[in-house]
Amino acid sequence: MNKVIIGENIVKSFGEATEKRNVLNGVSVEILEGEFVSVMGPSGSGKSTLMFALSGMEEVDYGKVTFEGRDLLALSENELADIRRTKMGFVFQQPTLLKNLNILDNIILPSMRDNRKNGANITQKARALMKNVGIAELENRDITQVSGGQLQRAGICRALMSNPKIIFGDEPTGALNSKSTQEIMNLFFEINIEGTAIMLVTHDAKVAARTERIMFMLDGKIVNELKLPKFDGTDIDRRVEKITGKMLELGI
Ligand code: ADP
Ligand code: MG
Repeated sequence: MNKVIIGENIVKSFGEATEKRNVLNGVSVEILEGEFVSVMGPSGSGKSTLMFALSGMEEVDYGKVTFEGRDLLALSENELADIRRTKMGFVFQQPTLLKNLNILDNIILPSMRDNRKNGANITQKARALMKNVGIAELENRDITQVSGGQLQRAGICRALMSNPKIIFGDEPTGALNSKSTQEIMNLFFEINIEGTAIMLVTHDAKVAARTERIMFMLDGKIVNELKLPKFDGTDIDRRVEKITGKMLELGI
């Protein structure tokens, strides 16, 4: 299997001189094409920073990040932005959608910026995605007029507009109730089945249980990982048990 992203020995610190603190302590990670992985670990262990480092959003002090064979850290700011826009999708706990723009316009905004001439196709694609995720009838709503789960669906549509190779989700279900969490995870599952790699940060063992590899982070290092068969909708309780068992063992 080809690798989408390879991070090698990534070191990242914040602060100056005596206040300097290593947040990533030499992290190496590889994500395969079409793989569905998650990262778990206590708050402050460096999960978000790792995701930002792998996506080129955060500069690192040391180490190497390779995306589809290209050295990300050697690229110009423009080249990097281009890759992020066309090959990566991002989903956060609170979708960063704009008020006073309706749901549809929020979804198409980044793509329109890139390719205004193609407006009709972009709108068509957004509508198809909205239909897939069950928010077709909400296109004219303001973002304040929909539920958290619906908002997250819109965020996912926006992330999918560019047909990314990989989606980074930083606690994408962290603000959702358990029903919406399940629905959003079903969505990620379908997206992954279509071939998009997904890397999720989560505190929820039930969320991680739907992924096929769980990396455990502690103090800026990946200290362990658990591999599971690709999720097929069965055995969720046993998968959760394996994960919580590992967390107990690691003291997470
Ligand atoms: P996690 O996502 O696992 O909760 P983070 O990657 O957000 O952890 O943060 C790891 C550590 O790095 C935390 O102690 C946090 O305070 C620190 N940190 C993160 N971003 C910054 C920043 N921009 N400036 C200073 N410290 C930061
Ligand atoms: Mg975080």
